[in-house]
Amino acid sequence: MCKICGAKTIVEYDKDMKCHVHFCNECGFIFKSENDYIDQSTEKDRYSKHNNNFENVGYVNMFEKFLDKIDDFISYEGYILDYGCGPGPVLSEMMSARGAKIKTYDLYFPHSEDYHEYVYDIITLTEVIEHFKDPLLELNKILDLLKKNGLLVIQTLFIQKPFLKWWYRRDHTHISFFDNKVFEKISEIFNLKVTYTDNHNIIILQKL
Ligand SMILES: [Zn+2]
Repeated sequence: MCKICGAKTIVEYDKDMKCHVHFCNECGFIFKSENDYIDQSTEKDRYSKHNNNFENVGYVNMFEKFLDKIDDFISYEGYILDYGCGPGPVLSEMMSARGAKIKTYDLYFPHSEDYHEYVYDIITLTEVIEHFKDPLLELNKILDLLKKNGLLVIQTLFIQKPFLKWWYRRDHTHISFFDNKVFEKISEIFNLKVTYTDNHNIIILQKL
């Protein structure tokens, strides 16, 4: 069953990745079968090897591109939560430099202890949502921390077909896959509005 819309899914076996993949024809959501997930310690180990810090030029460039794209659509005046910030607070430091008041959260790495005591004007989820086992549960928690009219800014590579040949699925920690259509369904469920999409890897959703 689809974890987003509840429709029946079609299951295919991914021979390269040795895992089952669910495809939803209703909302377009694609997800890997839970039986094939790697365990949490292996997952944390994998993230630690990502080398996500200021010395990694590719990683810094990715966020510069991200901010260039969203700069026109967001304000850095309020409180921002960088949700799933990773080991090096690269994006949050770049947003601080633009004048934002930043809090960070990450399941596996050090973050602002008091992050949950605030409500935010903006929450960023960069390369995070594809790791969610239960996107609706996680988004529900995240949206509780967002002000009315606040913005959820998401970066995740949108689904490319044929899926079973796509490089992005090859990371074992990538388990949930999205595109505009899936985000439309999510917006319907949580009463959000799509205010921007680049139709590639960035979408901005406003809480109504
Ligand atoms: Zn669905």
